[in-house]
Amino acid sequence: MTTKRVRSLLIHILMAVAILTACAPAATEAPVEATEPPQVATEAPVTTEEPVAATEAPAEITDTELNVLCTPQEQWCQGMKQEFEAKYGITVNYVRMSSGEALARVQAEKDNPQFDIWWGGPIDSFVAAKGEGLLEAYDSPNYANLTDPVKMKDVDNQWVGVYVGTLGFATNTDWLAANPDAAAPTSWDDLLKPEFTGQVMVAHPSSSGTSYTALATVLQIRGEEAGWEYLQQYAGQMSQFTKSGAAPAKFVGQGEAAVAIVFSHDIVNEIENNKLPLVLTFPEEGTGYEIGGMAILKGAKHPQAARLWFDWALTPEAQALGPTYAAYQAPTVKGVELSHPELLEVNLIDYDFIWAGEHKQEFVDKFTNEIAAADNLKE
Ligand code: PLP
Repeated sequence: MTTKRVRSLLIHILMAVAILTACAPAATEAPVEATEPPQVATEAPVTTEEPVAATEAPAEITDTELNVLCTPQEQWCQGMKQEFEAKYGITVNYVRMSSGEALARVQAEKDNPQFDIWWGGPIDSFVAAKGEGLLEAYDSPNYANLTDPVKMKDVDNQWVGVYVGTLGFATNTDWLAANPDAAAPTSWDDLLKPEFTGQVMVAHPSSSGTSYTALATVLQIRGEEAGWEYLQQYAGQMSQFTKSGAAPAKFVGQGEAAVAIVFSHDIVNEIENNKLPLVLTFPEEGTGYEIGGMAILKGAKHPQAARLWFDWALTPEAQALGPTYAAYQAPTVKGVELSHPELLEVNLIDYDFIWAGEHKQEFVDKFTNEIAAADNLKE
């Protein structure tokens, strides 16, 4: 085994161990109607098997364009468009939308879908879309590339994971210097400290998958009753809710508030590429994580091109492109070196994606109606 292989194997083992050893929920109350927790990988992925390579576009493909509903950051959407067009000669049109907006769009276009494939954003929204019959099953040959097919693929082949990311906190270091008695938060409770009142930023869960991941994480750690009580106080700490999940890291880096709740790879992007004065911390009692999803939409008008994108997005070649476009999420397929393995080496809860997806509408409505309306969201 090469050093690279051993490193990759170790990282996958670490990820599996982190998930398996995730701390037990603080509250004894299990989420109401929770399904069985998703199975996690108990063994390191088989790394002796070579991942399936990208295929050339089969000759029978007649689609000349592909409409992509793209949920990750603009730069990565644009990069993937260009890479796919260069490789296959199929024109890609994409629109970037946050998860909640994307789900609403897919619901509204149920009878006349304008998009062929939905790429990116936490899997909870894809689980919700599956529940409404909005997704098309596809048995990709490249499922063989997945490191953990049990966790990262729908049992009916309606969605699949294309990246993994963990939730973290970003604190402005200039604000910390100006407030020497305060420290960067290392627990969910720390966010409720008086010094952070009006100083926390997160997106609204109605528009953002990132924010919904935070909401569902809290409910899973604390149980529903204590979780909703916490969320009421948490909402009272906010300076403002944003529309997009990644935006709070930028605003906090610019000094608009002290702490942002954002996926850790977005915080790394702001620190490393945009040189914003931020420090990344994680809640020690456990943090949630996302599996970024992908699915072909039912009634897609360019199904051949959609299947080609789907297969391609599950190759190591395509997943290795992320860091080129400032996307530091972890891959879901074998044969890609992680750009930031430390983002997975944290205390992860055994996040129940199916439970979170099946309750998404209910929980978002409850948050919006009883805790914080989705008016005046910061762009
Ligand atoms: N942008 C990035 C970089 C992400 O990692 C994610 C998560 O999947 C998203 C956007 C999702 O966006 P939102 O939280 O706005 O739905």
